[in-house]
Amino acid sequence: MLAFVFGAIVGSFLNVCIARIPNDESIVHPPSHCPKCKAAIPFYCNIPLLSYVFLRGRCRACSESISPRYFLVELLMGLFALALYYRFGFGFEFIVGFVFVAALVVISFIDLDVRIVPDVISLPGIVLGLGFSIVGYFTLGLPAENAAIPSPLSSLIGILAGGGFLLATAWIYEKFTGVEGMGGGDIKLLAMIGAFQGWPSVPVTLFIASILGSVIGLICMAVTGAGRRLALPFAPFLCSGAILFIFFGEKILQFYSPD
Ligand SMILES: [Zn+2]
Repeated sequence: MLAFVFGAIVGSFLNVCIARIPNDESIVHPPSHCPKCKAAIPFYCNIPLLSYVFLRGRCRACSESISPRYFLVELLMGLFALALYYRFGFGFEFIVGFVFVAALVVISFIDLDVRIVPDVISLPGIVLGLGFSIVGYFTLGLPAENAAIPSPLSSLIGILAGGGFLLATAWIYEKFTGVEGMGGGDIKLLAMIGAFQGWPSVPVTLFIASILGSVIGLICMAVTGAGRRLALPFAPFLCSGAILFIFFGEKILQFYSPD
């Protein structure tokens, strides 16, 4: 329960990041305000999840409806925190997993919103992922085959594999079709995922993301009647793949090497 509340509170802060990072606004100043009427939101109206329900998703001052994204992000972060707690207990693995998931959630919702994978998150994320693996390996003496935090070598190969694979694919695609395929932002995102999870995550995450992307793409085409040019943001699928890898990666890898 405490983990859930903690996650929801962080989710509330992530909402501010999602709204402000694409506009290059500061994430700490000014304090929370309504995007429409600019009325400040007092702290007692800024309680994760509950405020949204009590105010029925509307601004208290001008009744402008507030995006359900705020509620969704708080709920998701609460649930992820709870799931991470049950998976790893509370310790270094929880902290690393939580930071990673928070970054993935912010990237996903910004990509959904404005079709950008922000460098200000993915690039420091690459360094942070590698940094965590070094701390885990050298100071905490985590075993190399640790499920949550890869060895520094695996992390480094993950960065190169994540970045390199997509870079090569994008180059080949562009060479043959003359159209720019995968965005540079997705490449840096996959490098960040490799940094946090080690190289085995890169093919698994890409595989899950491609399947999810195809299925959801087909559904969207069927529902909206849009043609094949329908372009879905790819980052949310990569992020979903990476989050699934946190919880099921070990099982997936065992399935492929059953010895
Ligand atoms: Zn308002």
